[in-house]
Amino acid sequence: MRPLAALCLTTALLSSPVLAQEAARESTAFTLSSGTARTAEQLALRFDKADLSFKLLPETQSLEGVAVLDFTATAPVAAVVVELDAVFAIAAVTVNDQAVADWSNPEGRLTIPLPRPLAAGETASVRIAYAGRPHQAKRAPWDGGFVWTTAPDGQPWIASAVQGEGCDLFWPCIDHPRGEPERVDLHITVPSALSAPANGRFLGKTDNGDGTTTWNWTARQPDTYAVSLNVGPYVEMAADYQSRFGNVIPLRFWRLASADPAKAKSLFDEFPQMLDFYEATLGPFPFGDEKMGVVETPHLGMEHQTINAYGNGYKLDGKGYDWLLQHELAHEWFGNQMTNADWDDMWLHEGFGTYMQPLYARWLNGERAMQAELQTMRLTLANRFPVVSGRPQDAATVYDAETGPALDLYYKGALIAHTLRLHIGDDAFYESLRRLVYGRPDPQPGNFQPRYATTPEYVAIVNEVTGRDLGWFFDAYLYQAALPELVMARDGERVTLEWKTGNGRPFPLPVEVEVDGALLTLPMTDGRAVFTAPEGAHILLDPGSKVLRRREYLEVWKASTAA
Ligand SMILES: [Zn+2]
Repeated sequence: MRPLAALCLTTALLSSPVLAQEAARESTAFTLSSGTARTAEQLALRFDKADLSFKLLPETQSLEGVAVLDFTATAPVAAVVVELDAVFAIAAVTVNDQAVADWSNPEGRLTIPLPRPLAAGETASVRIAYAGRPHQAKRAPWDGGFVWTTAPDGQPWIASAVQGEGCDLFWPCIDHPRGEPERVDLHITVPSALSAPANGRFLGKTDNGDGTTTWNWTARQPDTYAVSLNVGPYVEMAADYQSRFGNVIPLRFWRLASADPAKAKSLFDEFPQMLDFYEATLGPFPFGDEKMGVVETPHLGMEHQTINAYGNGYKLDGKGYDWLLQHELAHEWFGNQMTNADWDDMWLHEGFGTYMQPLYARWLNGERAMQAELQTMRLTLANRFPVVSGRPQDAATVYDAETGPALDLYYKGALIAHTLRLHIGDDAFYESLRRLVYGRPDPQPGNFQPRYATTPEYVAIVNEVTGRDLGWFFDAYLYQAALPELVMARDGERVTLEWKTGNGRPFPLPVEVEVDGALLTLPMTDGRAVFTAPEGAHILLDPGSKVLRRREYLEVWKASTAA
């Protein structure tokens, strides 16, 4: 997701009195949280496939769903546990075609006792038929749910975006980053005048002869919150992209029929340029066998795998590219191909994903464009909570500025990535990203699968690639809330520079210093350096803005705007 100044606070929604009076029909706190610890039953199952059928009923803002979930036991297990919002009425549950009556769904955690326990290696196919009005978003994508609106031509325009609250808002799933099914098939039935682009590869559509059409899709291991429904009066734009890796990638954009065709074409023309940047910088587009897909949405944007949500209105802002499209596309690498193992590792999605915009600005327009974007980011940092806590977290805790890093995931994460790149050099930096994203240094189309990663794994990768122990770097930047501070003391001609960090650990990050215009590079061994400078000389620390560090003038400014 792309942040604006204020993020959704799930907790604020929960405490809303308006919602409290409708409590019986509202999603529970459990349903609205995402990434809470998985149950023992969930840990004992491999999620092989989710076959999801949806009938969308715009007049009543409701849906009818049939989910067929295939699991293989990895350990003995007596029940299947998934999550499904209790706002839905469940009509029937079967396991391997056998009806199950004693299922229960208190608070949205659906427990289905198996007619016979599974031994490791045995499979179960669970079918759940349900219907109801899915939770509606108040301000998508910052709070999640369904958006039911109308396009300018008056036809229904529907979108789902559930990053913060999770997949259980509309399909029975394991609402945890590690709950990805290995395959998701989608069958989306909508009024025949509308289109239903979705994740993955298009398998064709069926006219049901009753004024509705079913659109069929299949997607390889989508992120749980990346499965999304988008319905509207769309025009499909199509082209093929010849990748530098030899494969041909379908480009697809579903724009509103009412959109300005020239503006839509300009945006569509950016697709190959952005793909070229990402493939040159990181490696193969991870879903080249499916598509690079984008759909125009009534909300700003979301990283829905191979069907990214675009709601930036074709706005030009002088950057020379559409930042929203470029940001969401970054998540195909940071988020969808490589998924954080826990919400605590969300900076792996958003920090690296956000750093791709200034890098792209440089790719297109040079150094000044990159620095301008980095400076805008620098002004936002809160430094109230560490970017990574080192403990399992749910989505709301991480995204709420009162309890977690919130926007620092994005902008501090990006600035940490920038500092790391300049410290270890481009070759090591980009190799570390390739290993993080693909799990190997030599990705080619077809030789990698979507994977999970943690922050400690990334630190280990950087250590391996550089042949050094950079634990001190990540410890100071990621695990401490306060930024490292560069403290200078002058005593006559003797100048002492010292890094001060949140935990007092040595921080040997080299810095450049300009003394009356002459550049010195100080190794800062043990976090300290001494040099000489004439008493009246002007000393400028870090003239190239290469290191992220505490700046008091920014704190003074922030305090003044808060007051
Ligand atoms: Zn994002």
